[in-house]
Amino acid sequence: GSVIGILGGGQLGRMLSVAASRLGYRCHIYDPSPEPPAGQVAEHVTTAPWDDAEALAQFAARVDVITFEFENIPTATLDLLEPLRPIRPGRRALSVSQDRLTEKEFLRGLGLQTAPFAAVNSADELALAVADLGTPAILKTRRMGYDGKGQARIDSAADIQPAWDAMQGAPAILEGFVTFSQEISVIAARGLTGEVAAFDPGENVHEAGILRETRVPARLSGGQRSDAVLLAANILNALDYVGVLGVELFVTKDGLIVNEIAPRVHNSGHWTQNGCSTDQFEQHIRAVAGLPLGDGGRHADVVMENLIGDDLNRVPELLREKDVAVHLYGKPEARAGRKMGHVNRIIRSER
Ligand code: ATP
Ligand code: MG
Ligand code: MG
Repeated sequence: GSVIGILGGGQLGRMLSVAASRLGYRCHIYDPSPEPPAGQVAEHVTTAPWDDAEALAQFAARVDVITFEFENIPTATLDLLEPLRPIRPGRRALSVSQDRLTEKEFLRGLGLQTAPFAAVNSADELALAVADLGTPAILKTRRMGYDGKGQARIDSAADIQPAWDAMQGAPAILEGFVTFSQEISVIAARGLTGEVAAFDPGENVHEAGILRETRVPARLSGGQRSDAVLLAANILNALDYVGVLGVELFVTKDGLIVNEIAPRVHNSGHWTQNGCSTDQFEQHIRAVAGLPLGDGGRHADVVMENLIGDDLNRVPELLREKDVAVHLYGKPEARAGRKMGHVNRIIRSER
């Protein structure tokens, strides 16, 4: 049997390992942190820094293919690994999605719509960009942001200096505020031989910048649904992508606007674990291992709810509920804002 190497050992790496194991593969996790959640289920774990050339070479020697569960893998790490084993998805997907500016330019280049944006490297440039794009607007660090961290909203001139200060000197991007009716995401996959399969778009609800809930089906017209899926396929093909990709979209009266892409399995795709015969984790493993993709068809309506921080206290009660699948990540402490697990509630239609 082959061994799949996974960079990053969080909950996504853990669920990828479970899916890989179901298909008869073994997993080897590489993560700098001492007790990563994925380490509890994978066969091997390497705990070493991202720039440890020797540890990376040993890791590569023990695996057949390398994938990752988060997009911020340092370039130096990729430089060391790339000559040794195939990395799927590849460099291009990572470099495009690691920087919000590069990402938006790439998406525009494909003819897709994004929020209006401007690169910002100083308080003066921010003032000019705000004058240009208007308010409200959102200032974001170009790199490393997640769960709404590294963002500041600007409603008036008085917010400009504090917003710039919040970036702590990091290169930033100003985005015009998009008025949307809903947020949706498409989770789609492309196989080694170029075939594409997409899951039904989900409708996402965020709270304080963190994903709270994903519902399928999303409230969309047939046209909007096919636009969303075609747009995701367009991105996958342009990147010569292998694996699962998440595309976050705003639904507006002027069509779909791409918020961001994630070159990996995605929180808003967790519903597939209980709504599809092939879930996003298995689909990703199939793609990177060079197997045929599974059918992305959906057999149930599902509401996925994240269990964040103290929500963990609700688990005993959730375990008693009918049609609720509980998924826990085995993280040691339930810090505020930390994703501890999720539940998939299967909605049965009344007959
Ligand atoms: P993630 O955890 O999904 O990676 P993130 O930190 O990269 O999040 P974004 O997805 O950029 O952050 O923004 C978080 C949320 O803030 C979005 O889902 C959306 O609700 C809101 N938001 C972000 N940018 C805009 C915008 N330009 N206009 C309107 N709302 C926005
Ligand atoms: Mg993001
Ligand atoms: Mg996002």
